[in-house]
Amino acid sequence: MAAKVNEKCVGCGSCESACPVEAIKVENGMAKVSDDCIECGACVSECPVEAISI
Ligand code: SF4
Ligand code: SF4
Repeated sequence: MAAKVNEKCVGCGSCESACPVEAIKVENGMAKVSDDCIECGACVSECPVEAISI
């Protein structure tokens, strides 16, 4: 399992810098979560548009 990004994502990159294991990257204006995600929740609270859920 991993955090999920929905269509509200605006590609701001805040989640990317919040992730302690570099599991989230912005690609083509949309955040993408890899299998390295440990579901810590750090990215969820950083997102300004509530685009990430666990
Ligand atoms: S839940 Fe934690 S480990 Fe997973 S992408 Fe978000 S910040 Fe990274
Ligand atoms: S913080 Fe939210 S809006 Fe910004 S890139 Fe991540 S998922 Fe997208």
